[in-house]
Amino acid sequence: MSKWDELLEDLVTANRILAHEGVVDSFGHVSVRHPDNPQHFLLSRARAPDCIELPDIMEFTLDCQEIDGRGRKPYLERFIHGAVYEARPDVVAVVHNHSPSVIPFGITKHTLKPVLHMGASIGHQVRVWDSHDHFGDTNLLVENMEMGRDLAKYMADDRTVLMRGHGAVVAGRSLRHAVFVSIYLEVNAKLQMQAMSMGEVNFLTSGEVDKIIGRTADYTINRAWENWCRRAGRPAINSEV
Ligand code: MN
Repeated sequence: MSKWDELLEDLVTANRILAHEGVVDSFGHVSVRHPDNPQHFLLSRARAPDCIELPDIMEFTLDCQEIDGRGRKPYLERFIHGAVYEARPDVVAVVHNHSPSVIPFGITKHTLKPVLHMGASIGHQVRVWDSHDHFGDTNLLVENMEMGRDLAKYMADDRTVLMRGHGAVVAGRSLRHAVFVSIYLEVNAKLQMQAMSMGEVNFLTSGEVDKIIGRTADYTINRAWENWCRRAGRPAINSEV
């Protein structure tokens, strides 16, 4: 299998994994930057992630114009992806989701922060972008580049950001890394809420977060990827650990 075919298979797999792990439901999406043209990215047509197949994968410019669309309907919120790739040359993959446990942290004063070892991958803390600040009453969808750029600017160099009353965005250094962070964002949020209901929370320290992030190698991510592929009924390509 060529590198290109492997990447497309991985993108389909990423969708299926995020669905099986409860990060996306009928909505939410994951994209990857084009490996040969950093000014383009790959994202499925508008379809529930658990249903996505290879022919659904479309190619877009960073301002979200489709290349060879062939009548396929793109996601309304593809601008999240394009704007993050445009602002962040370091980012290789983007996930947008409505992961249920993260929502409360976007609508209360409680900040989402790492509470467990694997949760360190979300970064030191997760800030909340509020579309209402610059755009007032909207339908909450990021459906143009202006909103996407505002979101990407607010996200700055972080790997995660919440969207008030809507969901989250995750930026990864690889497709598998973005999936990894997205899953642990949901796990961390759920555990943090459970801990908060029991009393005061003892969070990971900033130094601990730095050290754990520094040790999160590709073999760690591949070990999780292989397991998640098995659970989602997908072949685990190149995930030797
Ligand atoms: Mn959305």
